[in-house]
Amino acid sequence: MDEFELIRQYFSDLGQDSSGCVELGVGDDCAIVSPPPGQQLVFSIDTLVEGTHFLPDTPAQQIATRLLGATLSDLAAMGARPGFFTLALTLPESDPEWLAAFAEPLAKMAERHGVRLVGGDTTKGPLTLTVQVHGWVEYGRALRRDGACPGDAVYVTGTLGDSRAGLETLLQNIPHSEDVAYLQRRFFAPEPRLSTAQLLTGQASAAIDISDGLLADLQHVLSASHVGACIELEELPLSPALRRFAGEDKAVEWACSGGEDFEVCFTLPPDHEEAVLDSLVHHDVPVWKVGEIRAELGLFVRDAAGERPVTARGFNHFSEHAES
Ligand code: ADP
Ligand code: MG
Repeated sequence: MDEFELIRQYFSDLGQDSSGCVELGVGDDCAIVSPPPGQQLVFSIDTLVEGTHFLPDTPAQQIATRLLGATLSDLAAMGARPGFFTLALTLPESDPEWLAAFAEPLAKMAERHGVRLVGGDTTKGPLTLTVQVHGWVEYGRALRRDGACPGDAVYVTGTLGDSRAGLETLLQNIPHSEDVAYLQRRFFAPEPRLSTAQLLTGQASAAIDISDGLLADLQHVLSASHVGACIELEELPLSPALRRFAGEDKAVEWACSGGEDFEVCFTLPPDHEEAVLDSLVHHDVPVWKVGEIRAELGLFVRDAAGERPVTARGFNHFSEHAES
């Protein structure tokens, strides 16, 4: 199959144009998009490299959902509505079985979240996949990292640490069980918190998606906002499956610095808390208060043993102390 046949067969009609903004998609030199009136364009790009971001021989389905899920999570973190995306594929070979296994879940996820694939690039080489997503947010209403203020509450969506546990089950080849399946799903198929975060625009003072671990990512909010924070370790939302697999101490450690949760951490001024919690009563994703923003700089954690400062240990590709 040559490059053009490959694009035509798998990538020319993928996803859904939920905002009706795509004038011209895959097939020409460029795509054409008309922004909805009054909206700002927000976009983000993510790359997965075999051997660096996923283990060799990871099934194509899992790469697809992780790639688009992680990228859409960045849109969620801004409170944006998804619009369209582009896809750059570097493939060692043109393998129809692999391509079908990759394109099908990608299409399903893109449809579910209302993003249309409008273009990309296809090249031969070591397996590397890049997605750039584009979305819309009402002018001036994006959730940024730089708005947290002393006295704001720190919230997170969903549960934390599951994804890190899912990775561990793969590394250790843990036999299949319901818990293992759940944890691996959390690792391979992150659910971007788009609708939850859209409810926070105009309410939350800052937001970030948790890709490197709660502490590392919250640290970015603190730096951008010139504030500090304290996290209550006993308030961190842990799933029953994580608790059973990892035990309490490891579960808390992974919830703090496990990485790839793709939940959203956001800060809420006290006078917006009630309205936001009301708007989330019938929402399917729970949110949890896990700490507080302070004027005093630095990040602290507190549990029964008392309060102590932490150094955020995030994933850093170019650090000598990189964890993975
Ligand atoms: P050009 O040579 O003009 O850059 P290409 O041959 O790279 O164009 O691509 C032809 C068309 O197919 C373009 O519209 C491009 O956006 C699209 N395309 C290429 N690769 C992909 C892909 N992996 N996914 C979606 N669209 C793609
Ligand atoms: Mg061209």
